[in-house]
Amino acid sequence: QSNLIETHTFANFIEGDCNRLARSAGYAVANKPGITSFNPLLIYGGVGLGKTHLVQAIGNEIKNNLEDKFVLYVSSEKFVNQFLDAIKDGNVKPFTNFYMQVDVLIIDDIQFFAGKGRTQEMFFHIFNHLHQNKKQIVMTSDCAPKDLMGLEERLLSRFKWGLTTDLQMPDFETRVAIIKRKMQSEGISIPEDVIEYLAYTVDTNVRELEGVMISLIAHASLNRVDIDLSLAKTIMKNIVKDIEAEVGIDFIQKTCADYYDIKLEDLKAKTRKKEIVTARQVAMYFAKEFTNHSLKSIGYHFGGRDHSTVIHAVQTVNDLMETDNSFKAAIIELRKKFKMKSY
Ligand code: ADP
Ligand code: MG
Repeated sequence: QSNLIETHTFANFIEGDCNRLARSAGYAVANKPGITSFNPLLIYGGVGLGKTHLVQAIGNEIKNNLEDKFVLYVSSEKFVNQFLDAIKDGNVKPFTNFYMQVDVLIIDDIQFFAGKGRTQEMFFHIFNHLHQNKKQIVMTSDCAPKDLMGLEERLLSRFKWGLTTDLQMPDFETRVAIIKRKMQSEGISIPEDVIEYLAYTVDTNVRELEGVMISLIAHASLNRVDIDLSLAKTIMKNIVKDIEAEVGIDFIQKTCADYYDIKLEDLKAKTRKKEIVTARQVAMYFAKEFTNHSLKSIGYHFGGRDHSTVIHAVQTVNDLMETDNSFKAAIIELRKKFKMKSY
């Protein structure tokens, strides 16, 4: 059981300036796992830019060409949960042994290890064992290693042994190619002006671009109409605003910090000062409302807090709105800012 999705291949992964280095490093690793100097290979980039697709493509390529290799893809979240279960059962050995047998370990979203000391220690040992035995390690994270708050220095320094490379948002031409490929694989043809319109307007991430295409196809087929520019525009107006647009956690944090006239670092730090706590709770409240991040992920972005802190923040904001009119007015004003941005 490799946990690989067959459709995530190199053939389906459109190349552009945005991903050329990551893609070719991935391809090199896929053809000579463990023996290139790209070990570990760490690919980082924002949400929906193709990290999971690319590392799965590496796994699939190896599985197809080198059948005797044990390739394993695992999300960091799953790794953590398996480890915690093993601890709970009081028997960590099978867990360790399992991971140490792997030939190619692909571990996705390692930012999730932040602040999890015991998991990092375990991963450190597995990493060392695999690396010493010339086994390939491939990792992804949502930010550059230097910004991986909450990861131990000794792990970060291991990452420098190999290659770290990033994925950027595809440029216009690459977006056009991605749309064409997707439509082709769905067996649907759409007019050139619609393709250009979509490529031009959806500049956030590839997942969102795919979301818009799926909506477009669904609407056209449900209403038995052709896909044309006016349908595309309607879809963009009505649907895209529900998908996370520019209003991400960073934007929310910055807006709230500015609004309450505090430093952005303080908002994300542990400070307990009252004004800062309030601004932080408000920012968490809006992060829950406007982004698709889980409570866990929101907590993580606020200096590695846990999900219960976020729940508490949301409750506090709701309570304050009932009792404090000027607080409520502030919330309304801030919400307007985020709404405007998300259209
Ligand atoms: P991430 O893991 O970085 O959040 P994913 O790998 O899940 O992003 O990619 C989101 C979607 O976009 C997936 O359906 C993926 O197939 C698609 N995608 C991303 N980059 C490309 C690309 N260069 N070519 C084709 N599809 C892509
Ligand atoms: Mg991913």
